[in-house]
Amino acid sequence: MLVVMRSQATEEQVRAVCNKIEALGLRAHPIPGAQRTAIGITGNQGTVEAGSLEEMPGVGEVIRVSKPYKLVSRDIKPDNTVILFPGTHVAIGGKDIVIMAGPCSIESREQAMTIGEQVARAGAHFFRGGAYKPRTSPYTFQGLGEDGLKIMAEVRERFGLLVVTEAIDNESLELVEEYADVIQIGARNMQNFSLLKHAGRTRKPVLLKRGMSATLEEFLMAAEYIMSEGNYNVILCERGVRTFADHTRNTLDLSLIPAVQRLSHLPILVDPSHGTGKRNKVLPMGRAAIAVGADGLIVEVHHDPDHALSDGPQSILPDQFEELVSEVKQIAAVLKRGVVAPLDPVAETVLAVEPTSRPAAAH
Ligand code: PEP
Ligand code: MN
Repeated sequence: MLVVMRSQATEEQVRAVCNKIEALGLRAHPIPGAQRTAIGITGNQGTVEAGSLEEMPGVGEVIRVSKPYKLVSRDIKPDNTVILFPGTHVAIGGKDIVIMAGPCSIESREQAMTIGEQVARAGAHFFRGGAYKPRTSPYTFQGLGEDGLKIMAEVRERFGLLVVTEAIDNESLELVEEYADVIQIGARNMQNFSLLKHAGRTRKPVLLKRGMSATLEEFLMAAEYIMSEGNYNVILCERGVRTFADHTRNTLDLSLIPAVQRLSHLPILVDPSHGTGKRNKVLPMGRAAIAVGADGLIVEVHHDPDHALSDGPQSILPDQFEELVSEVKQIAAVLKRGVVAPLDPVAETVLAVEPTSRPAAAH
């Protein structure tokens, strides 16, 4: 159920409605929008009388949401969610496009510094890299763990980039929340409901990658798990799904972008690296992702991909990344969008990034 407040409703009126909902043993999710605040209700709603809420001061209407996802839906929030990063000018989901780049895995301090410097110079906003790697084989490199997170924090300090990295379980989640600016949940964990709920209790934005065979509804329901726990800063990411096609590692499903944008207010990025698995296809599909309306890209870049400890074949070289950023700018301009200005490491030391707060900060 969804309570749509009148545009003139006061904060006290919103609070009173929330209190009433909570007193019924349900959870109230006030989501401020450009025009009005809507309050999502989650929990077993058998006990709610729509009429009793409708009569409260400031309430416009009470709507039954028929879709299984509620907080994720545009029904609750018609305008796009824009996620801000305090202390910087970076926003995800706004008019301008954001770019995340870096190696698949953090392999060493030297490797991370080399790539960090190159992607920062080319215009990336986020440094990506795995410290905990969900590998298909237990005998391959599993990541540097907390040492990898420390190296990423050093990249942030040195080059002013924000940091996005994956948490693979509840244990790594705590550390990732401490070190990263965005917590990544990988394709293999998209339906790890325990991890999703824990991520929903953190105070950092979550980048949720689409599961390898997830339908659009399953993907949105995974985001709903995170939001239902109170973390409304979710960024979706299309990274390809498993199909019969074998000319690429996965099939990058770019039609998902407009489909998501119709149903949900959440920002959506595209990962053309895992989406194709092949270096020569990353630039064309990265360009296409922007053309189709994605809010940004997350790309694997390596200065020596032949010796990368993971995903070398799909990692592009720093020169290619520079070319991609320039192409993204041109395609964005056609759509009357821009690319977020690069971070200035001197003016914007984002060392101690404030945790992004509940929905109010997402505007
Ligand atoms: C990654 O980003 O390194 C990764 C493992 O991605 P995915 O979960 O999409 O496979
Ligand atoms: Mn990878």
